[in-house]
Amino acid sequence: MSLLILGSVALDTVKTPIEEHTDQLGGSASYAAVAASFFSPVNLVGIVGDDFPEEHLAFFKSRNVDLEGLQIVPGKTFRWSGEYMWDMNQRETRSVELNVFENFTPDLPESYRSARLVLLGNIAPALQHHVLDQLIRPHFVIADTMDLWINIAKEELLRLIARVDMLILNDSEARELTGETSLIRAGRLIREMGPSFVAIKKGEHGCLLFGENQFFSCPAYPLEDIHDPTGAGDCFAGGLAGYLASRHLSDASLTEKKEIPFDIMRMAVVEGSVIASFNVESFSMDRLRTVTPAENVERFETFRTLSRFGAL
Ligand code: AMP
Repeated sequence: MSLLILGSVALDTVKTPIEEHTDQLGGSASYAAVAASFFSPVNLVGIVGDDFPEEHLAFFKSRNVDLEGLQIVPGKTFRWSGEYMWDMNQRETRSVELNVFENFTPDLPESYRSARLVLLGNIAPALQHHVLDQLIRPHFVIADTMDLWINIAKEELLRLIARVDMLILNDSEARELTGETSLIRAGRLIREMGPSFVAIKKGEHGCLLFGENQFFSCPAYPLEDIHDPTGAGDCFAGGLAGYLASRHLSDASLTEKKEIPFDIMRMAVVEGSVIASFNVESFSMDRLRTVTPAENVERFETFRTLSRFGAL
């Protein structure tokens, strides 16, 4: 059974203090799907225009990403452009062209409706609701979001949060959503809004995972060369969801709804962090095209070493 991923499929223009790349493959669903494909087959739900390069479709297919749920319609693909400041942490959105996104209704192919594991990637909460409404009996639903939706669609977002099993957001978004400065209190408050698990990303400083009376602080990988941070959050969510999908398939004890043990969630958070750390080493998804299984294992072990201390 595949992991269902909804989100944007985009052509991004990204400028850093050193380089600028135009109309490269991007979008929350694209990053998440390619990251998840390291662990699990993916069913992708999104929309592109007829200007979307064939080579990107071929790349998705080569990664076991099913495209029956990707609508290809006349018009231009969603375009996003961002610029990073010298610290490569702060970003300004330079432009957003919705294009085919303006009339997007994500109607699921019949075969996608029985998905058990679902990642509602960063996209308008109304579209996330629409996909959720079509699912027959999902076991575990993860939602990702961004500050834009907290600002312009808060009511819809709060209703969505109440419907999902896990919410992923970054530190400033968690503070904005809850009005709390403490991330520990913010994580706890978001859990009270509905999800059993909450992951708060802290950019280059790692991530916090909250479960019922349980907490995990995942370290950040100490990267020396960051070329393009775009999509790190989406890769984190995709890697995490892909890992859960692979465990879900192989472990019969996980087939009951919401019964994912905290230890497995900790592993999923580390796997998501590993994939995200590779992604920022190059523009677009270029680094994910070359990562080998051995490199993946090696970096996972580095994360293990980073969080170990004392005479173990
Ligand atoms: P991240 O760096 O994790 O924030 O993700 C960046 C990706 O999100 C880019 O590839 C963009 O194409 C995509 N993106 C930016 N704005 C939006 C939006 N409003 N809705 C959906 N996707 C977006």
